[in-house]
Amino acid sequence: MTAHGLDYSGRRVLVTAGAAGIGLAIASRFKGLGASVFVTDVDEGAVERAEREGFAASVSDVSSEAHVAELMEEVESALGGLDVLVNNAGIAGPTGPIDQLDGDAWRRTFDVNVHGQFYAVKHALPLLRLSDAASIVNLSSAAGRLGMAGRSPYSASKWAVVGLTKTLAIELGGEGIRVNAICPGAVNGPRISAVIEAKAGMLGRPVEEVSELYHAQSSMNRLVEPEDIADMAVFLAGPLAKNVNGQAMAVDGNTEKLY
Ligand code: NAD
Repeated sequence: MTAHGLDYSGRRVLVTAGAAGIGLAIASRFKGLGASVFVTDVDEGAVERAEREGFAASVSDVSSEAHVAELMEEVESALGGLDVLVNNAGIAGPTGPIDQLDGDAWRRTFDVNVHGQFYAVKHALPLLRLSDAASIVNLSSAAGRLGMAGRSPYSASKWAVVGLTKTLAIELGGEGIRVNAICPGAVNGPRISAVIEAKAGMLGRPVEEVSELYHAQSSMNRLVEPEDIADMAVFLAGPLAKNVNGQAMAVDGNTEKLY
């Protein structure tokens, strides 16, 4: 690493769900800073596009332990090891009042958002233990610090991510493996548009009105950009954050209430 601490030359990074959305912004930022980056995604078309953009990539569903175990073999053979794991994969889950939520949709939210991170950490550890400065960055959410009416499985799953992060930081810190989380506010992109639409449907209010509420969640009255999350990821994963462990870092323009 150079003096400014953001040179990732020679570093090997895996970003789950890294072929689109926030994951792609994170993967691109690491690549731009010199890292060898592997992305995985459940979407075949997105993986093909990522390969064309110069990423090592493969298709996998992080909610399958068998897929994740195989993924780590692919990462090892493509990158020769692993220094940074970014557990970015996460789905929005269903929107609705708790008594109207479907059990399968609830379980699926946890399968991807929580169990996916468990599998990735479990199977990445043999590689991370060989790194001289390993780091794990887990994607939580502002909904992992606050409640969010109508999004109970999502919010509960993202609180679980923070609990996992804090526990792993203690378990692995002694080995020099740091574990932190990022809690983004509403991020500009297709996902938040779909969430706003679902929320408007649930509340019976116009989409534009709910969109304004989502902007106003931030004291800066704007959505977060995917690149803002990438900036936090490269900070947390590198030596500038060498004594930052077990933290859930908000990147939300100061959000105190979620709609
Ligand atoms: P997104 O919905 O745009 O999806 C990004 C990618 O995830 C897609 O390419 C999709 O194919 C992939 N994916 C979905 N399920 C997968 C699985 N089981 N295995 C592998 N890949 C899978 O997501 P996003 O908005 O970029 O969010 C990325 C992360 O940030 C998530 O963990 C999300 O919960 C979190 N987050 C997002 C926001 C937001 O406003 N978008 C806010 C806070 C936190």
